[in-house]
Amino acid sequence: MADLLNVKVDELMAKVIAKNPNETEFHQAVQEVAASLMPFINENPKYLNNKVLERMVEPERVIIFRVPWIDDKGEVQVNRGFRIEMSSVIGPYKGGLRFHPTVNLGILKFLAFEQVFKNSLTTLPMGGGKGGSDFDPKGKSDNEVMRFCQSFMTELQRHIGPNTDVPAGDIGVGGREIGYLFGQYKRIKNEFTGVLTGKGIEYSGSLIRPEATGYGTVYFAQEMLKLKNDSLEGKVVVISGSGNVAQFATEKVLDMGGKVVTLSDSSGFIYDKDGIDREKLEYVMQLKNIRRGRIKEYADKYGAEYHEGKTPWGIACDVALPCATQNELNEDDAKTLVKNGCFVVAEGANMPSTAEAIDVFLEAKILYAPGKAANAGGVAVSGLEMTQNSMRLPWTREEVDERLQQIMTSIHDTCVKYGREDENYIDYQKGANIGGFIKVAEAMIAQGVV
Ligand code: GLU
Repeated sequence: MADLLNVKVDELMAKVIAKNPNETEFHQAVQEVAASLMPFINENPKYLNNKVLERMVEPERVIIFRVPWIDDKGEVQVNRGFRIEMSSVIGPYKGGLRFHPTVNLGILKFLAFEQVFKNSLTTLPMGGGKGGSDFDPKGKSDNEVMRFCQSFMTELQRHIGPNTDVPAGDIGVGGREIGYLFGQYKRIKNEFTGVLTGKGIEYSGSLIRPEATGYGTVYFAQEMLKLKNDSLEGKVVVISGSGNVAQFATEKVLDMGGKVVTLSDSSGFIYDKDGIDREKLEYVMQLKNIRRGRIKEYADKYGAEYHEGKTPWGIACDVALPCATQNELNEDDAKTLVKNGCFVVAEGANMPSTAEAIDVFLEAKILYAPGKAANAGGVAVSGLEMTQNSMRLPWTREEVDERLQQIMTSIHDTCVKYGREDENYIDYQKGANIGGFIKVAEAMIAQGVV
């Protein structure tokens, strides 16, 4: 039986690889989902007969476009823009925009594919999409970022809309970029709608949206621990990254009585044995969000250790929250974490663990939550921002946070329902994949061959 299922996964992968050469991250994401879903799909012939998974790996639409702009020296620059419209069967395409020099078609397709499952898990009516550019906001002036965003939106606007495709932020796209993108959309279309989420609070953004991914990841970790009659109280937590997700994950761990000892960026990580308290976190927020500096400055200011060119996975901890980027945690890192006693891993980033690292976590039977479940809080509050925009009525902080907590609990329940292996062990990867898949698959069958 296992052999037959492996053959089916291999057949699917052979087609995916042949049709999408060199898109290694996309192959990785599809392989992970296919291998974990295949036993379930095989037990439900309607999904096999309708070729649901084969259809899901083919984006409904891919848009690639030129983004010309003028830098501060007056020179013309050219970047490439993308929008992957992956699936719209359960709602408008929804997912972030990433601006980073590594962005390419394969990376955005992996992110869009993951987004379909993640958005389905939130219980809200959102399809999946992703986009971005190889533009690097690092070292650019505000005016350069503005001109780039305006040019990017001048093309993208014809493909999106509040009932069609609703982008948001991701790596390199925060409040500043969303503001410039929204301003340009509004000028061109002459309409004020919820076409983007992550907007500023003054122009119909949602409270708690900046906090949502980090908070949600920690709420999810807390749910996993609760099922074991445990909590984050007194736990030592290792976090990677120092951007939006890492910052608010740190804040919520503090709220729950845990101790965060690391943060990182692409140059290295800081290790603060005493823990990052609220005052130090405020410093990190200023450093990263306003001065756009490097995390090394934290070590200089507070006398913490700085490990150049390294990731924080060698630091002993109870809980690890990878909140930086894809494939930031490999097999050796996973082994080291488990050996040093880490027993909870909740992914704040998308696909931060390599396939081999995930195998280590599953074999060790620790509490491992994949990003599509653990970091769904960000897009969930984006969904709530869409609701508020449609009603033209904002909710209070408490109301949004309450709904975010309910959604994270519901995602956790779904993972437990479909991922329970025995009395003591939940396979959250399997639970998230099956739970996310069913709603999309049923909608695809109901809507005919789409
Ligand atoms: N980029 C985030 C994610 O990976 C949020 C997307 C959104 O809010 O649409 O889920």
